[in-house]
Amino acid sequence: MTTERAAIRPFLTKVSEGTLMVDLESFRQKALELGAGTAEIIPATQITVDERVRLKCIVPRCLRAGETPNCPPYTPELDVIRKAFAKFAWAILLKTHVEPLEAYTPRSGKSKAEQRQTLLFHQKTGEIVYQIERLAYKHGYHLAMGFGGGSCKDYLCHGLICQFLDSGRCRFPHRARPAMEAMGIDVFDLIGKVGWEAYPLLDELSQVPCAISVGLVLVY
Ligand code: SF4
Repeated sequence: MTTERAAIRPFLTKVSEGTLMVDLESFRQKALELGAGTAEIIPATQITVDERVRLKCIVPRCLRAGETPNCPPYTPELDVIRKAFAKFAWAILLKTHVEPLEAYTPRSGKSKAEQRQTLLFHQKTGEIVYQIERLAYKHGYHLAMGFGGGSCKDYLCHGLICQFLDSGRCRFPHRARPAMEAMGIDVFDLIGKVGWEAYPLLDELSQVPCAISVGLVLVY
């Protein structure tokens, strides 16, 4: 089935509800084309920002906390995030399948490159989020903003020291952004609302049915 592509139009053009839905569907289709396993159009009201999620970045402390400007404690205050998100009506939620999971398991693999594969767990999702945000912006949705999973220090800088904190110049200024969880979004709550499943990735990974990485683009 071919989907009508969103037309390029000037910023602040008033779009009808019908046009908005056509645009959202074309962004959803694009996410699939780019490699998302599934993508959904969701009302932004389904997104929950929870203090406990933010706290989970430091209790217990994530290795990346404080290591990039996109990780707590440098991320925006949750009240600002809640107020900003409340002004959005629609978003695209997407997931990619991380497989084979063994390749992304810490300390697996023989070569250095294989051992570093774990850093790239969220790489594909990050790229799709970036492309969908860009596409929405290009079609006049000037406040579109996207979030992926994990730290940009892993999926973009492959574990190198953060150049922004070191010298003030990010290596990937347009691609780097906070993760959904760093923004306090309860990702598991959100994917549960659309019927997706995720499993704890601990200990017996051979028994885990699948691993996913999740992204979100707030459009309008
Ligand atoms: S330099 Fe790398 S780690 Fe630092 S903010 Fe940019 S992408 Fe993230």
